[in-house]
Amino acid sequence: MITGTPSDKDDRENHQIETAGRWLAEAASVVVFTGAGVSTESGIPDFRGPQGIWKKIDPSIFEFDRYVRDPEVRKFAWKMRLDHPGFSAEPNSSHHAIAEIEKLTEFEALITQNIDGLHHEAGSDPSKILEIHGTMKEVKCLRCRRRWPTQEILARVVAGEEDPACSDCGGILKTATISFGEQLEQHVLARCQEAAVRSDAFVVAGSSLVVYPAAALPEVAVETGAKLIIVNLEETPLDHKADLVLRGKTGEVLPRLAEVVRGA
Ligand code: NAD
Repeated sequence: MITGTPSDKDDRENHQIETAGRWLAEAASVVVFTGAGVSTESGIPDFRGPQGIWKKIDPSIFEFDRYVRDPEVRKFAWKMRLDHPGFSAEPNSSHHAIAEIEKLTEFEALITQNIDGLHHEAGSDPSKILEIHGTMKEVKCLRCRRRWPTQEILARVVAGEEDPACSDCGGILKTATISFGEQLEQHVLARCQEAAVRSDAFVVAGSSLVVYPAAALPEVAVETGAKLIIVNLEETPLDHKADLVLRGKTGEVLPRLAEVVRGA
């Protein structure tokens, strides 16, 4: 049996990236969909990757019902927020490459499951960023829906309020993120679905594609005729539906993809 040599592998990868870049350059509507994997190279751990948070913390503390019911869970959550790497992290080459692809193509939307705000910091157009799981950079009152910058509420935690309440109505405060079991913002989900339907090239980057309903979006894109490109370190349940799977770090693959689009 003849097996591939390293240079065969390089050639195959180059060819795949060129093909994917051409699809993006020629598409009438491009959507990029990101997950926690695009931010691991900025020092923010993902949930399910090899160094993921699930290896260290019981996932049930991220359940919405537990947060609402149990003040101890809220105290723990605020403590975790104080130390969250997302407040000091910088965008990496994945975020910058996506911002560039956005400017070079007929770009429809950047759908992100990430709550870290790094796509905004990398210069992506805010009107095209759809944060399907919300943002950790804001806090919401679960009763009156008032919002604050997270740093204002964290200052109260530092000053000794372990479980700060809404200063207007006394309601429970929570970062403006979507926990497990919490309703997504329906208008954001609707915009994501419309973008998936309209897309004819849909790139998934750094997502395990197991969190629904977000993970249904690439399926919708494929069913409505888009080419699906998946960039991820590990296998995903949708690899078999993808037109191309680029196995590697998003921080390496996406800049190469942007380079092809730039030259197309
Ligand atoms: P996930 O943890 O389930 O999956 C991440 C995937 O990315 C894994 O398959 C992993 O192998 C891959 N990966 C890790 N680093 C990579 C890299 N450098 N290049 C390529 N692939 C890489 O994440 P998910 O699919 O986004 O779903 C989990 C949920 O966790 C999301 O809803 C998101 O809101 C939340 N989350 C967000 C952040 C963040 O904002 N940065 C961090 C952790 C979790």
